[in-house]
Amino acid sequence: MSRKAFLLLPFALLSCHRDAPRPRNVIFILVDTLRADRLGTYGYRRDTSPNVDAFAREAVRFENARSQSSCTFPSANSLLTSRGPAAFLGQPDQAMGIPPGIPSLAEILRRHGFRTVAVSASAVVRKTPSRFNPSAGFGRGFEEFEEDCVWKSADCVNREAAAHLKRGKRPLFLYLHYIDPHGPYRPPPAWRHKFARGRPEKEWVRRGDPNPIGNWLYKGQPNPGLTPADLRYLKDLYDEEIAYFDARFAELLAALRGSGLLDDSIVVFAADHGEEFLEHGHIKHCRTLFDSSIRVPLLLKIPGADARTVSRPVQNLDIVPTLLDYLGIQAAAPFEGRSLRPLIERDASANELQYGLQDSLRSASDGRFKLIQDLVSGAVSLFDLAADPGETKDVLRRERRAYARLRGSLTAWIARDEGESGVRKAQEAEEKLRSLGYIE
Ligand SMILES: [Zn+2]
Repeated sequence: MSRKAFLLLPFALLSCHRDAPRPRNVIFILVDTLRADRLGTYGYRRDTSPNVDAFAREAVRFENARSQSSCTFPSANSLLTSRGPAAFLGQPDQAMGIPPGIPSLAEILRRHGFRTVAVSASAVVRKTPSRFNPSAGFGRGFEEFEEDCVWKSADCVNREAAAHLKRGKRPLFLYLHYIDPHGPYRPPPAWRHKFARGRPEKEWVRRGDPNPIGNWLYKGQPNPGLTPADLRYLKDLYDEEIAYFDARFAELLAALRGSGLLDDSIVVFAADHGEEFLEHGHIKHCRTLFDSSIRVPLLLKIPGADARTVSRPVQNLDIVPTLLDYLGIQAAAPFEGRSLRPLIERDASANELQYGLQDSLRSASDGRFKLIQDLVSGAVSLFDLAADPGETKDVLRRERRAYARLRGSLTAWIARDEGESGVRKAQEAEEKLRSLGYIE
């Protein structure tokens, strides 16, 4: 040990929380299209998630977390880089990946000696081109990027992950991108009818396909005869997909435990966005910034950190700085998020806001109120999330101070992140996804 390292050692020990070892590995679990409010730990009345709930009881649970967008692109980009969604719009050929020059978590960790592995079931978060992401662009920084499970269920992701659950000389960063709750809602047979009852007449409802509703709403096709019972059935199938994932999640945790990785790993449980079931006249995702689309689960299991619930507002942008803080890695990258460590350990936080971008919509929320602005139509709405979590009543006329505060913050965020051309770039991005068939 060098003299310098020896001198630094006592301070390093002092800075550790309750003598816990510094976390060594990161296991990052991203569940595509998972609404927070469909999990028991976030108050759902149905038993969709006993294993996630048990994990949450031993983790730091953020009950007021939001994603930066309601679409995989650019929400996943923001989550993996701590850069606002606008940084990913307007790339040459409308590419959807993480452009060179914006370091991702994988790149930073690899530079610091990590073994970096991804297993992704997403057709967007890819190393190689796919129909939905012809330019790929998510592979940089990963030594291995498994793509065999695209559009496949959690047992495939777990199976691919199992080969990498080994302790090695180098610390491990393992990114697992699950897709189960994403439409079409087709849970494996053993999970069918856990919640869904009866046999709907319409074949597309039985198959858990929400696209005929999208074709009606967005493509001028006739109403497919949607009834309240049809919609309920689709929601039931969505819940069954979550219940299926939850069982596989327990298997993943058991495998992590068996490999000895759990004790010194930070485990992240996050989602890139939610899903809409006509709460606000829309279906699926990539449409709005209502909480059905952007309120997401966020659980962090950190060696040495007590289990607790954090109710202050946080956003997916905060995940990367938090991980690096706990790993003791200083990165020069200009993050937009902040480390949540002061909030986790001392309940200390600046009054941070949560920002969102989807097409021409922008939002800012302080966790109590949410302002949503349409930059094209000029429409502005303000919702009181505490009194009206379903965001059904616009309180803009009544809550003038909250409006003025959020409006000022939102305008500053747009100017900082996007400048003048922001709306045009956002619209081009949505056009691209639509032309590829990812959204209707
Ligand atoms: Zn997604």
